[in-house]
Amino acid sequence: MITGPVRRCAAELAAAEELPAFVYDLAALRDHAADIREALTSPGAPEIFYAAKANPDAPILETLAPYVDGIEVASGGELEHVRRVLPNARLAFGGPGKTDSELELALNLGVERIHVESPRELTRLAALADGRPVEVLLRVNLAGDRSGVALAMSGPFGMDPVLVDACHDILAAAPHMRLRGIHAHLASGLDAPAMLRQSTEILDWARPWLDKAGVTAPEFNLGGGMAVDYADPTSRFDWPHYGRQVAALALPGETLRIEPGRAVSVYAGWYVTEVLDLKRAHGEWYAVLRGGTMHIRTPVTKQHNQPFTVLSRAENGPEVSGEPVTLVGQLCTPKDVFARQVPVDRIAEGDLIAFAMAGAYAWNISHHDFLMHPKPTFRYLD
Ligand SMILES: *Cc1c(COP(=O)(O)O)cnc(C)c1O
Repeated sequence: MITGPVRRCAAELAAAEELPAFVYDLAALRDHAADIREALTSPGAPEIFYAAKANPDAPILETLAPYVDGIEVASGGELEHVRRVLPNARLAFGGPGKTDSELELALNLGVERIHVESPRELTRLAALADGRPVEVLLRVNLAGDRSGVALAMSGPFGMDPVLVDACHDILAAAPHMRLRGIHAHLASGLDAPAMLRQSTEILDWARPWLDKAGVTAPEFNLGGGMAVDYADPTSRFDWPHYGRQVAALALPGETLRIEPGRAVSVYAGWYVTEVLDLKRAHGEWYAVLRGGTMHIRTPVTKQHNQPFTVLSRAENGPEVSGEPVTLVGQLCTPKDVFARQVPVDRIAEGDLIAFAMAGAYAWNISHHDFLMHPKPTFRYLD
């Protein structure tokens, strides 16, 4: 599963003593993004807004730009960053707890759609806009059954169907605010059939609500959350199936939109490091790796084994064959675990370890400064 260019880059970085490193395979990202685009081209298919929070690195955004319709940002920081990297990109701005200065920034930096999370936020935005036209979607949070999903976005996200009704009067009193549609990001970790069921649920609720609000040519942002399977790095969300079916859900005059993050960029990133020490403790084998989960917090937050490939390198280092090994980092905490009791054919001190699926929610969600180890190297392969 590891590609030649990533393997070669890993060897070069090891020779130059530049590990650990994040290596991004931009060619693979381009191919994957092209596949997703291709699956969503029929009439009625949703527009794609990449969720920057999954990985906002400039080379990632620049690589994705030709294959997506826009970028979804979730803070003033992301908004300024993405505007700088992609000055002409269409932007949607969502996220809870937007401050006045962030809303002002959105008004000044040409955000196309603001996803409003509460009646108070709508009121503040209307006042800040002060007559300037603003196009908004209202974010709703529907109560449906989300059992089995990786993450249900219940709680403070958006408005429930009772609260959202309070927006009617606020909009009526602020004619410069144009309601364009409904936004709903309800869960993450959904496979294509589950995503389609959820999309239907959103449309069934939102259509009559928008109709009552007098919205013509309505827009429906159906959210992100397309499933990624860390236990099988070769599997992919079924974009062709999803694309065909979701396009058929759109009625004439409607615009659908999605905002996937993880399922777009996760496969393009690798965290490459090396085995510093190999030892047995209380009957279990441990490989201590350079770096740690302060660089890639993903396995700790998701409580999974980060998939990896061992790249054999050492000539004479101590080794283990055919036994389960726990891969840990350099942090002084038992939580610094990349993968637990994974059977390996052979692993030796000095070997390189390439962790796959490190392209999303990896470096950018990690507590980099804990223990003050050196920062990783970053490589972007074209
Ligand atoms: C995080 C987030 C996304 C992206 O979710 P993925 O699971 O990365 O696809 C999209 N929309 C909103 C509102 C989000 O908070």
